[in-house]
Amino acid sequence: MTLPDGRLTLPDVTRTVPGLRDRVAAWRAGGRRIGLVPTMGALHEGHLALARRAREEADRVVVSIFVNPKQFGPAEDFERYPRAEEADRGLLAGLADLIFAPDPAAMYPPGFATAVSVAGPSAGFEGDARPGHFAGMATVVTKLFVQAAPDVAVFGEKDWQQLQVVRRLVRDLDLPLRIVNHPTVRDAHGLALSSRNARLRPEDLALARRLHGILGEVREAARRGPVAEALEQGRRSLDRLGFGPLDYLALVDGETLAPLESLDPARPARLLVAVRLGPVRLLDNVEVPGAAAGPPG
Ligand code: AMP
Repeated sequence: MTLPDGRLTLPDVTRTVPGLRDRVAAWRAGGRRIGLVPTMGALHEGHLALARRAREEADRVVVSIFVNPKQFGPAEDFERYPRAEEADRGLLAGLADLIFAPDPAAMYPPGFATAVSVAGPSAGFEGDARPGHFAGMATVVTKLFVQAAPDVAVFGEKDWQQLQVVRRLVRDLDLPLRIVNHPTVRDAHGLALSSRNARLRPEDLALARRLHGILGEVREAARRGPVAEALEQGRRSLDRLGFGPLDYLALVDGETLAPLESLDPARPARLLVAVRLGPVRLLDNVEVPGAAAGPPG
């Protein structure tokens, strides 16, 4: 919101579930539609795009900032995950009405014993690379949906598998909200923005920026076929260029995440990649249209 003197208002911050519920209840009593953007903070332009999208879809926007311990494995970067709450609040001026930034103890009080586990789209890829990750994510997202009772929640396509897990969960549990996805926001060179990019070594940045272009090449090769050859070529390129160990490069059904050996013109497909580069694990994906491009002209 903009004040009469042109300044943007900073969102309020609440750290408790009753604090969140009271605000949402008051808005709802006034007939407002609520939009929720779940995040882990250290916000960048990708997150801000989701908040703007939520503003288009709803009258009041809640951004949650919670580095969810349950979605990190024991050897992962929970402690090192970037945290920047004051800066985040400034970035959300005029974009969000409320930040929900609970303490872990408010989300997981002593004795917490419930988990939401989604089969189907959780299998494979991030599900294999990060055991327990999707159950941790689905548990916290379900809690956020119940706590904030939004009409709509906005997620980024950057985390494609996560998006499909969330869609599945909302359908399976008949949760009364709409999920909206927003395209991946990239830097001018095509690198998908990510809070973890802050940890890229300066000498790795140029290579990181090539990942999106390689996905584009694999996509075109896959459309010409055969898919297995396109993927193999892509794996070789990543290795040759100096990317670290590859977790996966795969062509999958865009909804079920089932691996595909060929393209079906009637079903949208997605090309997924997770590859290490120094201390960072880069995650990206692109849409793959079904039919091969026809001859020019
Ligand atoms: P995160 O806090 O990064 O775990 O993600 C919070 C939300 O922001 C998720 O819905 C992500 O998919 C989304 N997101 C993260 N990076 C981007 C990006 N570059 N473009 C669009 N959405 C993003």
